[in-house]
Amino acid sequence: MFVPILKTIRSAAEVVIDLLYPPHCAVCSAPTSGGEHLCAGCRKKARVITRPFCEVCSEPFLGQIDGVFICSECREQQFRFQCAVSGHLSRDVVRDLVHQFKYKKRIYLRHALADWLAGTLNDSRLQNPPCDRLVPVPLHSTRQRERGFNQALLLAEELEKSSGIPIADCLKRIRYTESQTHFDRNARMENLRGAFKMRQHSEVRHLHLLLIDDILTTGSTVDECARVLLDAGAASVRVATVARA
Ligand SMILES: [Zn+2]
Ligand SMILES: [Zn+2]
Repeated sequence: MFVPILKTIRSAAEVVIDLLYPPHCAVCSAPTSGGEHLCAGCRKKARVITRPFCEVCSEPFLGQIDGVFICSECREQQFRFQCAVSGHLSRDVVRDLVHQFKYKKRIYLRHALADWLAGTLNDSRLQNPPCDRLVPVPLHSTRQRERGFNQALLLAEELEKSSGIPIADCLKRIRYTESQTHFDRNARMENLRGAFKMRQHSEVRHLHLLLIDDILTTGSTVDECARVLLDAGAASVRVATVARA
C-alpha cells in the first residue's frame, strides 16, 4: 500500500515540475515538446542496432552475411541465457542519457530509456515463447544505498506498465563486487561467482524469464544471474537491456 502511494506522489511531483520547468533536451538543452527529455535531433543520433547481428548477444556484424550469425565470443563461451537483446549501442546520446540517469540521479530519464527498452519486446527472439516475468538485475544493498535506487528495477517498473508483463524481483546480490571494468572475462566470472542468490519464497519454476538491466557489457553479470535462475527451475532466461557496449 505504502509503495504505490509513494509512486503516485512521485509521478504527481514530476508532472508539477514539468509544468514549472518545461523539459529541455537532457543532451543538448534544446526545448522539447510533449514532455520529452530528448529532442528529435538527439533522438535521431541514437545508434540503432540493425541486422546483421549476433543472434545470442546482438553484437552488430559489420559486413554482409547470409543466414544466422553467432559471434566468435558467443560460440566460444556458451552463455546460460538464450539471448541478450538491445536495440541501441551504448554510444553518444544513449550512453550520455544512461550516465545521467544512473550517476547524476536524473531518474526522470527512465521514461526515455524505458521506451528504448520496450522496443526490444518487438524482437522475435523475445516473443517465442512469450516472457512470463521481468527480473531486474539486483544491486548489492550497499551500492543501492549509495546510488539511492536500482536502475534496473526502475526500468523494469516502466516496462511492466507498458507491456503488462509482471516483475519478479526474485534475485538478491549478496556479495559486493569491486568494479569489473578492468577485469578480463575469466576474472569477471571468477569475481561474480556466488554474487547472487534467490530471495526467500520466490518461485520461478517453469517460467520464461526476462532479465532487465541498463547496459550489457560482457554479459558476465547477466550470465551469472541466469545460472542462479535456471538452478531455481526457470524454464528459460533471456535478457533485455536499453543498450549494449
Ligand atoms: Zn537534443
Ligand atoms: Zn555474440
